[in-house]
Amino acid sequence: MGWGTCVNAGGRACGYMIEAKCDDPDCTAIINRGLAYVCGDMHDGGEKGCGKYFCYNHLSQTGSGQFCKECYAKID
Ligand SMILES: [Zn+2]
Ligand SMILES: [Zn+2]
Repeated sequence: MGWGTCVNAGGRACGYMIEAKCDDPDCTAIINRGLAYVCGDMHDGGEKGCGKYFCYNHLSQTGSGQFCKECYAKID
């Protein structure tokens, strides 16, 4: 077992075995839905993230995790 495939709170398939497009609507980068690409610090996003999956161009690294543009803007 592990996090190779799972289903998150939104009913969406996730895990690093799931290949998917970046969740930015204008981005076509292929990523996977593993923790390496999630917004927040865990699947579903943790306390501050939205739990969507983005390529590295659309994630900002912070001291408390990595976040997409929108969530990053809400963090001070
Ligand atoms: Zn986000
Ligand atoms: Zn992207």
